[in-house]
Amino acid sequence: MARARRTVRQRSRAVAPALAALLVAATAAPAAAAPAGDGGARTPAKAPVAVGHGGAVATVDANATAAGIDILRRGGNAVDAAVATAAALGVSQPYSAGIGGGGYFVYYDARTHRVSTIDGRERAPLSADRTLFLEKGHPIPFDEAVTSGRGVGTPGTPATWETALRHWGSRSLAHVLRPAERLARDGFTVDATFRKQTADNEARFKDFPDTAKLFLPGGRLPAVGSTLKNPDLARTYALLARRGIGAVYHGELGRDIVRTVRTPPVDPAAHRVVRGGDLTARDLRAYRTEERSPTHTTYRGLDVYGMAPSASGGTTVAEALNILERTDLSRLDEKSYLHRYLEASRIAFADRNRWVGDPAQEDVPVKGLTSKRFAASRACLIKDGAAQTSPVPPGDPRRPAACGSGGTPAPTGYEGQNTTHLTAADKWGNVVAYTLTLEQTGGSGITVPGRGFLLNNELTDFDFTPISPGTHDPNLPGPGKRPRSSISPTIVLDHGRPAFALGSPGGATIITTVLQTFLGHVDRRMPLVDAIAAPRASQRNTAATELEPKLWHSALRGRLEALGHVFKENPEIGAATGVQRLKDGRWVAAAERERRGGGSAMVVRPSGKPPTG
Ligand code: GLU
Repeated sequence: MARARRTVRQRSRAVAPALAALLVAATAAPAAAAPAGDGGARTPAKAPVAVGHGGAVATVDANATAAGIDILRRGGNAVDAAVATAAALGVSQPYSAGIGGGGYFVYYDARTHRVSTIDGRERAPLSADRTLFLEKGHPIPFDEAVTSGRGVGTPGTPATWETALRHWGSRSLAHVLRPAERLARDGFTVDATFRKQTADNEARFKDFPDTAKLFLPGGRLPAVGSTLKNPDLARTYALLARRGIGAVYHGELGRDIVRTVRTPPVDPAAHRVVRGGDLTARDLRAYRTEERSPTHTTYRGLDVYGMAPSASGGTTVAEALNILERTDLSRLDEKSYLHRYLEASRIAFADRNRWVGDPAQEDVPVKGLTSKRFAASRACLIKDGAAQTSPVPPGDPRRPAACGSGGTPAPTGYEGQNTTHLTAADKWGNVVAYTLTLEQTGGSGITVPGRGFLLNNELTDFDFTPISPGTHDPNLPGPGKRPRSSISPTIVLDHGRPAFALGSPGGATIITTVLQTFLGHVDRRMPLVDAIAAPRASQRNTAATELEPKLWHSALRGRLEALGHVFKENPEIGAATGVQRLKDGRWVAAAERERRGGGSAMVVRPSGKPPTG
């Protein structure tokens, strides 16, 4: 299995104490700024929770959150703010987001009370087939696929921005790109997380002179507190502002992307095997976002909307919730609650792995996967003890049979902890949950020369070979196909009005992070920011469940082991953000307290205190 071979692991770390001092723990307006170490960039103060009126934005990064708040202040709506925020994330989180990647955009419209989505996933070249990652009948090494032109899919992010603004925005692309263009020109302050992510990628970045020039200034890791500028990206955003996204899909930026993918500009002295890809101008011209119906289920009277395939987030979160709804989780002790959460996730992942792929080329039983009837047929597999073996086999959502499983189990392999999620809301009540990605932290490691952005390696989300020999695998490569994603932007309505929205990065742990945070907030009655901060466990139909250190070192671990659970430690799972609408009309923005150095939550007009339970 290709996944099992993934060895390039990036982990973020808690922020260094010196930097932490800069991260003022206050309900911060973006105007409040902390001085940068070298007097260059000014970084807005960072806080994990904010409450007030006029709209809200939450991301992992204060500059990006401030960009969205700036647009809201100028009268833009949540969609305008989300695109501005995403563009700023492309500057300050360039290893997780940018116009060289893709993502999924979920939107609640306050006027129509409808939830809509945009699938902006990268696509394989039209020439691709199931042998995309095979040579002489054997899969190429996973790490070589990651750092290659072969793994680069046709970018979907510029088209996602254009589609969102055209349908629901109130401002032009040029207008919403302004804060990000400024940020790229003036620079952002390097923090410990960014430096660590750069260090994890240093060896491969060095092999691409254009990437090294951008992210290893003077040939060295950027110092914490220094300012990192990206004038090439500022010019790229200015070009997009002038020419629109045609510059990517029909124009000069596209020509540069194609050339870079086909002949990656690798240092001639490098010892690395870097394969080219078969992306063409035709692939770029043929790229379209897909506007899909969201997945939908109900949960204890709430309406839960998520991202439909090609993402597996919506169906998998919905299935697990449907299974869990059959038990009153609010009454259980912590051990029993975690046990049921882990088992429901295990079962939902068995079904995800068997059934979900790109609906343009696979017959995905979305209705069955999200139905109460199928959940009932799967819920009876949960016993008082953990499943004795994992992976457990999938069920058949087309023909649910009581306690029924069939076919060969399809395990979930390792996926990274990358990507970034933003959540935005406005004074009219519109809400956006948008997760964007390059796949690996740093994507392919390949920068488009002179353009200031990295290319994705999203096609490595395909299975290189059938995951269970003899059983159809819906996630093999195909012509123009979208690789299956775990991205799970989620919007929850209460009687047709927004209750909360959330999402997270983290590869396949995205799904468990969203699920666990949801349950923490709804069933365990935690304030959103506390549900986000709570220590995480992730079970994805594998033998061992991953635990963050706080759970790993807690007494709960032993109690769960007594039920048959097997654990391994994972230093950090996910990095969620969310927004919540309070009954009095205020918005709460919520982000991580510690993971990835802490996130950034802001509202337009702070007012009062966040709820405590
Ligand atoms: N490529 C992953 C996905 O779409 C997201 C990247 C990550 O967070 O690892 O599921």
